[in-house]
Amino acid sequence: MTIEVKNIHKQFGAFTALDNVSLQFPDGQLTALLGPSGCGKTTLLRIIAGLEFPDSGSVLLDGDDASRRHVRERQVGFVFQHYALFKHMTVFENVAFGLRVKPRGERPSEQQIREKVMRLLELVQLDWIADRYPPQLSGGQRQRIALARALAVEPRVLLLDEPFGALDAKVRKELRRWLRRLHDELHVTSIFVTHDQEEALEVADQVVLMNKGHIEQIGTPDQVYNHPASPFVYGFLGNVNLFHGRVNEGVLASGGVELDVPQHADVRDSQAVGYVRPHDLEVDRYAPGAEGIVVKLRRAHAIGPLAQLDLERVDNAELIEAVMSNDRFGKLAPKEGETLVVRPRRMHVFVDEGSGI
Ligand code: ATP
Repeated sequence: MTIEVKNIHKQFGAFTALDNVSLQFPDGQLTALLGPSGCGKTTLLRIIAGLEFPDSGSVLLDGDDASRRHVRERQVGFVFQHYALFKHMTVFENVAFGLRVKPRGERPSEQQIREKVMRLLELVQLDWIADRYPPQLSGGQRQRIALARALAVEPRVLLLDEPFGALDAKVRKELRRWLRRLHDELHVTSIFVTHDQEEALEVADQVVLMNKGHIEQIGTPDQVYNHPASPFVYGFLGNVNLFHGRVNEGVLASGGVELDVPQHADVRDSQAVGYVRPHDLEVDRYAPGAEGIVVKLRRAHAIGPLAQLDLERVDNAELIEAVMSNDRFGKLAPKEGETLVVRPRRMHVFVDEGSGI
């Protein structure tokens, strides 16, 4: 099912939670609504579900205006951050619940319910705990049961609000890969709310970056990460070093260093900021006349395959973070306090609007 929201506006008193939001969720795709706390992600999800009504604007499901339709008529499945499983019911009964409460004519037989629930439990790989009760499960298992329960009624849309938010980092990672695989099997149009950029980039087909009630950018993970539409998007998707300066004739002059401005950057002769990811910085030993920004190494720590370097610019004492492979770090073997030189390998340049990130 395709979902489209058009010109959605939602006000809570004087506060604008959603400001003229329009976008499409393609059929069978997994879309992540990503943005900082309070940007309106959950409100948009609730409006799509029919749990909340917009002040103006419409929600179209497969092209039909569903704006005034009740949640029960929208055929959506939900999974929330806090797995609201029924504690006094077994895992099996939790998953069966939505089928048992269907109106008489639509209710499947006991045999059909049993088959369907067991199939779903196999799908989420938890058929072996069908007889347990929720308090006897781990957080990750409860979330998978919540997902099986949501899928039991064959929703046309699956809405997930920070479904793994309450879990620890390792379980979260496992579950998001698992969710992606499950989605590839079922192809239910799904919308996933998260404030975790890694989660959105790894799991989603389409990422919607939201900020203060409006959309900053919509695109594939590659588009938003590699071609960010605004400084906000760039800054939200990862750590960043800022090089303030002035652009003239394709060169950003920042503290006595000249950095080439990428051709696609839409910046001409103005104050500007170069945005560089820590892993896009090349770090070398300093030699007199070396091209680049001269820095001193404040601290380095190498864990696993990557080494992180905290550097301080010699000209203005600003801090810079660089990340390199542990191999390269071993070869460079920099000492604390040593003078080094850094050059951006890749940089995004935006006009300096004084807002920062
Ligand atoms: P989070 O990641 O923290 O859940 P979010 O992006 O999902 O944030 P929303 O829950 O959509 O944000 O809330 C957007 C804004 O609207 C917030 O500032 C919130 O305080 C406000 N808000 C949400 N629901 C209500 C309500 N029922 N009454 C008043 N204000 C509300």
